[in-house]
Amino acid sequence: MSTFQDKVALITGGGSGIGEAVARRIAAAGGRVVVADIDTENGRRVAEAVGGHHVQADVADPAANEAAVAVALERYGRLDIAHLNAGTGTGTLGGPDAALDVEAHRRGVSVNLDGVVYGAHAAVPALQASGGGAILVTASLAGLIPSPGNVTYTATKHAVVGVVRSLAPVLTPHHITVNALCPGFVDTPLVRPLLPALAKVGLPVDDIMAPDDVAAAAEHVIAEGGTGAAWIVMAGTPPRPYPYY
Ligand code: NAD
Repeated sequence: MSTFQDKVALITGGGSGIGEAVARRIAAAGGRVVVADIDTENGRRVAEAVGGHHVQADVADPAANEAAVAVALERYGRLDIAHLNAGTGTGTLGGPDAALDVEAHRRGVSVNLDGVVYGAHAAVPALQASGGGAILVTASLAGLIPSPGNVTYTATKHAVVGVVRSLAPVLTPHHITVNALCPGFVDTPLVRPLLPALAKVGLPVDDIMAPDDVAAAAEHVIAEGGTGAAWIVMAGTPPRPYPYY
């Protein structure tokens, strides 16, 4: 039986890429999905495809996270999985020639970091009311090792790994696991336009993963039942926890 069977999941950024693949995998296994996405067109498209519900939400807004959880409770009466996946490459760059883009930096922090803090805060009472559940954060390999010069992205992805590690011990008594997925490159609209530039600087874009590879890793991590880990997700190998000491 799939880990996802009969589970109710809220997926932020579920309208595209990794979030869409997780939504499809959960629905295919007999679970229920609420797709929270800032992009109404894509959010609705995925929700329709998986027989779920779309809620328009900007994760940078605490109230939008609360509203998304409320939709899961109204429609399905419970919440088992909160996949805090929405993210953006918006941010500022560093280095001697880089201009500081304050607005882009603030937005990157608001979506990638604040969105996870607010999403977890909104989900915990609902997960607790279900007797426990799983919070899964899509961080990135850039949450473990630096993406050179990509200051806001690297910093926010490291930060959400910190959020995961900080929350896990206090949620263990409530039977809520908290883990981060740290994928390498995944073929999604976020990364596709960057591929030529990444290849040019010698990054391994040939073994880029499909979004469903990350969805399979999400299922593996939840099934494994541990908590507080940042899982390295790379092409061709099973997900493995980053060895923090
Ligand atoms: P994507 O662009 O395909 O999907 C991201 C989705 O998030 C989109 O539907 C978008 O509308 C939504 N979104 C963006 N900002 C939002 C906001 N403020 N509120 C609600 N929804 C919002 O990209 P993806 O590659 O599937 O990215 C998903 C996550 O995976 C991100 O956190 C990203 O940083 C992370 N990630 C991606 C890769 C990769 O190579 N693609 C690698 C590691 C980590």
